[in-house]
Parts: sequence; C-alpha cells; structure tokens
Amino acid sequence: MRNSEDLDRILMKITFYGATQTVTGSKYVIESEGYRLLLDCGMYQGKRDVSNALNKTFPFDASSIDAMILSHAHTDHCGLIPILIKNGFSGKIYCTAPTADIAKFILEDAASIQEQDALYFNKHLPAGQKPIEPLYTKQDVKKSFSYFAPVPYFRLTQQWTQLAPNIRFKFYDAGHILGSAVTLLEITEAGEIKRLVFTGDLGRHFLPILRDPEFVEEPAETLIMECTYGNRLHRPVTDLEGDLKNIINEAIKNKSKIIVPTFSLGRTQELLYMIHKLIDAKEISRLPIFIDSPLAQKITRVFGTYTADFDEEFWNDFGERGESAFLFRNLITTVSIEESKSINNKEGPYIVIAGSGMCEGGRVLHHLKNNIENPNSIILITGYQAQHTLGRKIVEISKAQVHPVKSAPPVGGAVSSEVGQFDRVKIYGQEYHVKAKVISLDELSAHADQKDLLSYALHIKNLKNVFLIHTEMPEAEAFSSLLKKEAPSLSVNIPSQGQEFEI
Ligand SMILES: [Zn+2]
Repeated sequence: MRNSEDLDRILMKITFYGATQTVTGSKYVIESEGYRLLLDCGMYQGKRDVSNALNKTFPFDASSIDAMILSHAHTDHCGLIPILIKNGFSGKIYCTAPTADIAKFILEDAASIQEQDALYFNKHLPAGQKPIEPLYTKQDVKKSFSYFAPVPYFRLTQQWTQLAPNIRFKFYDAGHILGSAVTLLEITEAGEIKRLVFTGDLGRHFLPILRDPEFVEEPAETLIMECTYGNRLHRPVTDLEGDLKNIINEAIKNKSKIIVPTFSLGRTQELLYMIHKLIDAKEISRLPIFIDSPLAQKITRVFGTYTADFDEEFWNDFGERGESAFLFRNLITTVSIEESKSINNKEGPYIVIAGSGMCEGGRVLHHLKNNIENPNSIILITGYQAQHTLGRKIVEISKAQVHPVKSAPPVGGAVSSEVGQFDRVKIYGQEYHVKAKVISLDELSAHADQKDLLSYALHIKNLKNVFLIHTEMPEAEAFSSLLKKEAPSLSVNIPSQGQEFEI
C-alpha cells in the first residue's frame, strides 16, 4: 500500500487475524498512533481439531488492545470474547444494545457446549491421555458481561462515539441479524482524516423483520467487506415464500416430518415469521411446529423487546394489530431433552426447528438420526453450510444422488470425522445413508449476494482499498475480478491469516 508520497505520512495498520479466506473466526486489529482497536473476536467453527487449536492460541496480546467493536452476535464474530478477557483485555466492547443482549445468550450456550464436551471426553478418556479443559466456562462468560458498552445506531441519535482524541466511530444498520452494525471509523492522523468501513456481515434487502442495510454516506478510502456469497445471486424473497409454502403443503399431504437444522439467531425468527404469514393467509394448513431449541426460544424473546428496530413490513403484517410475529397457535416450544426426544415418536406431518444450523451438534442430531434414512422425511437446509460440516456433507450427498457422478466420490477435499463413506454420514458415531429428501432454501441466507455486495462497495465515494474477508477463495476471487472490472482503480485484496497492511 505504501508508495513514495506516503513516506512522510503516519500510517494506520490493519492486521487480519481471522475469517481470512474462510468464513469463520472474524478478528481484525486496527492500529493508529499506538491505539489498538479490535474489530470482532470470533470463534473458529468447523473441523473440530483444527478449530480447537485455532481457538486455544490467541494470535495477539489481548492486554495490548484498547477497545473492541463487535459487529453482531453470531458466534463466529463474538465467540472468543471470554478468552480475550481471560488473556488480559480490560477495555470496552462497543456494540448495539440488541447485540449485547443476544451475545450474552450465545456465549452462555457456547460455554455450556464446551463444558459438556469436556465432561463427555474426560469420561471416556483413553489411557494415558490428559483430561481436557473447556475453552471457557459459564463463569468466564458472566465476567464478560460488564465489558459490553451499548451504542445506538447513528440514525437514532446523530451522535458519534469517541474512542480516543483522534478516533471516533458510528454504527450504520447492517440488516444482517437483529442488532448487526456496519462500523464507520474515522481516524485523524497528522491532520489527515482517514475513514474505514467495516461491514461485519452484511444483510440483504427485502428479508422479513429487519430493516435493509443502510449505505454509508461519507466518503471512505478503505472498506473491509464480507464476501460470503461473492459469486452468487439470491432469488427474490417472494419466490422463497412460495417454495416454503409448497414444501409444507407437500409434507402435509404425505404426512412427512420436516427437520430444519437452523441457526437460533435470525433464521429461526425468519422462518417463524414466514410460516405465521402463510397460516394467516390460509396458504398452508396448521401443523405442529416444534421450536426444539432453548437458545432459539431465549433469542426470540429478545426480538420481542426490539420491535422498534423492525421494518415497515413487520408493522404492516403484525405490529400495527399489536400481534407478535413469533407467537401463533400450533407452535410448540420444548424445553427438556425428554420433551425433545418424544417428538420422534409423533406421527407426521410436523416441522421441527432445532440447532445447530450446520448439524455440528445440538438437538438436531437426534432428529436427523431418526429421519435421515426415511425417504418420506424432509431435511430443510436454510443457511450456509461451511466446508467440513455435517450439513455440507448431507447437501453434497443428496446433490450427488440427483446428479450421480460415475467415478470418484462427489465431495472435494477432506471431510470431517462426522462423515462416513461418500454416500453415508456419521451421526453419534453410527453411519447412516442419506435417504430423506434434502431441500436447500439456503437463499434464506441473511447475507448479501454478489449484486448487493457490488452496489454496497460502489456506493462508497473516494474508495481506494478493499479487503475481502469472511469468504472462501472461489467466492473472493470471483468477486474481486468483478469489482476490479467495475472500478479498475480500486486495490482489491484477499488477505491471508496474520497479514498486515499499512494505509
Ligand atoms: Zn453473521
């Protein structure tokens, strides 16, 4: 980035510590005149042994960080906050109020998964192996609560937040999940104003519930942008509602069970919203819908306290009548494990919504185990499935069955320990054939698509440097070529882990 004219300038440094050429583990440090700001502190998710190793070793000195900005409450953006604090961080964590509320539940849930995992592993400890410790405990999570400093979106207060005499920021609505924010950072170095936009995860237009992403109005030279769907175009949301209607009506006719591995945050609420609307419009008949996730239930309650952040569509559909989008007849919430397991004994049709979204753990596993070999059952995929996850494997196997490939197994690269031979998957250590119908409505994704990303970047005036993060390489490369074609003067980078840039 440095050229001869820059030699006398003070340079701001950006170091990319996570979600580089992958979609998990977001962590970036911005440094200006000795002030160190951390953007996001996400946990690595995916292949267990690799993620564990990455999560255990913190890549920088946490005590040297002055403050942190959290873009939103997904685990891959906030999941290592307790480790940051354990390692000596003592600053504030700035985020919106809903992000703070939701992050607390997300972190508690992550801690209890780690505690249970460690307990299970240590109980079955092979001779000679040392017991493992959870990455962090619920106690560690509690300690982190006092560090959160809620900041409203700029549109509500017209107020910047000052971090240091020469550094301030404001939040734009990212439209990705409740509370998600795009950060505009303004740094004054030797009288020169530099602006940097950090998208966190960027939402898409016309999704139910949330307001659409807001464009940044100020000129800014640097953009750190997520690029999850950098090579894909989503279908319109209205088509997806139609698909959901057809899938549910077909399931009712065939008495099928629909298993929806889903994310407790965002996707669950969107699905409930769409199903509620379809029922009200008499487009589908009532059928039992189980929310089999205590975390999803807690987060759905948080949604109820921030309806002021919802979009106009919500107010037209439910809000003005004083109705909740997330409460309706036939919606059943299960709390205990026994209640969860008893769902398996019920006759279809029904829908069960359970975590985790990529089938890497949680209650969805026992629903999958009971239904994956039943051709009358439906596995409804509603979100991005990262490489090496059980969810990705199920999708790939079902695609290969529809379009068989003669020779080699149709999956590329290594697969997780949860995966068996190429037409089977492993659940709780047992192999199962994928015979259920697998339907992907992953365009329900809360991420911007290629067109959205392009218009977002091109809307920023005076833009010079773009860094593509939170993306796998094919998506990043496709989007980088497109961006360079549309704006040839831009410097577009796909940073690798630990890479530093001075600007
Ligand atoms: Zn996200």
